[in-house]
Amino acid sequence: MVVKAYGAYAADKPLEEIDIERRRPGPGDVRIQIAYCGVCHSDLHTVRSEWSGTLYPCVPGHEIVGSVTAVGGAVGKFKVGDVVGVGCMVDSCQDCPACSDGLEQYCENGFIGTYNAPTADSPGHTLGGYSRQIVVDEKFVLRISHPVEQLAAVAPLLCAGITTYSPLRHWKVGPGTKVGIVGIGGLGHMGVKLAHAMGAHTVAFTTSESKREDARALGADEVIVSRSAEEMNAHANSFDFILNTVAASHDLDAYTTLLKRDGTMALVGVPEHPHPSPNVAPLIFKRRAIAGSLIGGIAETQEMLDFCAERGIVSDIEMIRIQQIDEAYERMLKSDVKYRFVIDNASLEG
Ligand code: NAP
Ligand code: ZN
Repeated sequence: MVVKAYGAYAADKPLEEIDIERRRPGPGDVRIQIAYCGVCHSDLHTVRSEWSGTLYPCVPGHEIVGSVTAVGGAVGKFKVGDVVGVGCMVDSCQDCPACSDGLEQYCENGFIGTYNAPTADSPGHTLGGYSRQIVVDEKFVLRISHPVEQLAAVAPLLCAGITTYSPLRHWKVGPGTKVGIVGIGGLGHMGVKLAHAMGAHTVAFTTSESKREDARALGADEVIVSRSAEEMNAHANSFDFILNTVAASHDLDAYTTLLKRDGTMALVGVPEHPHPSPNVAPLIFKRRAIAGSLIGGIAETQEMLDFCAERGIVSDIEMIRIQQIDEAYERMLKSDVKYRFVIDNASLEG
């Protein structure tokens, strides 16, 4: 069926209204009427081809929430009317060691992203949540148990939430650990809320003096404006774990030197240009590590959604109409997001 969407035809073109085709639900598929879709910095990187390899037309969006409007005959987990979410993945091989371990994001045959990934459906690559409807295999659909009034603010959990939850869990953040979250944007503000909810001593690093108060309100025990060498030096050798969400290349040494012996900094930001190569001495002399982490598996995404629902955790959002998307991207580039734009998908209808 034909569905209204918003996408770009080239890296240097603004997004515009486009009609796309969605497949008829197969036996294992769920059709979802999309209510809201969060705006991730990855959408901007992709639509402007900052990572290369973008397929056009490009319809971004992988923080999708809405309600089920149809299910295939073999669907067991969902029925019409259920409130559901879809994150960054819509398929994986289901057979390799990573998929067998519930880590579909590390699928050895390549997971199928919600946008810009190969598919048999027209036009040959997946099209994301800046659209009115989507059809997804039920294995990649998540159940949402937050109150329905919070639905728009739940959308960013599907990427920003899981991308910060997964490394915080993997590196065993909790009571007694001192954790830094670098970059207080969409991912970072969720990182602060989640690290705080896990019981860690949570420290926010921001380049924006204007976010100092906000970061405390989000749950940070301390806030460091990273442009101040004095504030940074006061925390040398003290962090168990640092989660770095910054979307631009920067000096990593400024953070590795803040780790304790055996501490780790996990990078989740994927800047257009590489970071300057880190200095090895601070790593070697205290056995510190720099690591990376990619979103999270489907089971862990459900665990994160349930964790957040039980504690009333949602994203801090600014709702936009789809027609404001280019303006939202420009503000995102200026670190001017408080703290995630979410599209009201009803605005696709004019
Ligand atoms: P965002 O909302 O734009 O937030 C990024 C934050 O980084 C900004 O708000 C800003 O925070 C800080 N920042 C920006 N430019 C900076 C600079 N030049 N130097 C230092 N700090 C800077 O972006 P997002 O949606 O959170 O995404 C962050 C990155 O993660 C993107 O690269 C995105 O593609 C990537 N990502 C990765 C995964 C994964 O699975 N690994 C998943 C989703 C997204 P302050 O104002 O506080 O400094
Ligand atoms: Zn994302």
